[in-house]
Amino acid sequence: MIIFDKVNKWYGTYHALADVSAEVAKGEVVVVCGPSGSGKSTLIRTVNRLEEIQKGNIVFDDQDIYAAKLDLNHFRARVGFVFQSFNLFPHLSVAENIAVAPVNVLGVKRADARVRALELLERVGLASKADAFPGQLSGGQQQRVAIARALAMDPPAMLFDEPTSALDPEMVGEVLQVMKQLARDGMTMICVTHEMGFAREVADRVWFMDQGRLIETGTPEEFFGNPQSQRAKKFLADLRNH
Ligand code: ADP
Ligand code: MG
Repeated sequence: MIIFDKVNKWYGTYHALADVSAEVAKGEVVVVCGPSGSGKSTLIRTVNRLEEIQKGNIVFDDQDIYAAKLDLNHFRARVGFVFQSFNLFPHLSVAENIAVAPVNVLGVKRADARVRALELLERVGLASKADAFPGQLSGGQQQRVAIARALAMDPPAMLFDEPTSALDPEMVGEVLQVMKQLARDGMTMICVTHEMGFAREVADRVWFMDQGRLIETGTPEEFFGNPQSQRAKKFLADLRNH
């Protein structure tokens, strides 16, 4: 579903991604971890070309994302991306936030988009909030709306960049719960997260990054039970000491 082929990215002279090659199969859940500044956000942001790469290639859902004929706006809208900050439109209701891209980008009829928005809200446990405004919701609820908004575009895969990092601790669980359900439903996912419990329970594979390199990819059992590199051992030891 997603192929990184010798991906290289520089910010100026800084080599932010160095020869990253990896694949995510359909239905697979990958958790990306690694120290701060190791390139995790940069890597997943390359998938919808929020960050351009200088060398290598990326294929998403059989689409070469650097193909000349690619309609970038349309492509981006189909890659489900959930960030640390939810970025909901404050002046639109929850249901309108979810329906706006299907209506504007895909040309879905407004009434149909609303029906779908209500279904998605049901799925993230927020059916009763359809006509509330984002400012009336908790952070955890807003993040669940952001997930529903991404799902409304029927994304072939979902990318998460520390979706729970900005949340108060008591709201982390409800967002992880929604992500777990998505994974069980067969969604292809790349999740950058420090939630190692989630990684152990849900990930098919863990990718460990350091200094712009993907230095380990293993099952959670392999990665947590028997990390290969010194850097991964240190990373896990530091996490445990927190
Ligand atoms: P992570 O998500 O793992 O914390 P990032 O992908 O955000 O790491 O960043 C990787 C490295 O690239 C860091 O050293 C960061 O300072 C640098 N970096 C990220 N974005 C930019 C940018 N827009 N310009 C210059 N350097 C950047
Ligand atoms: Mg990051």
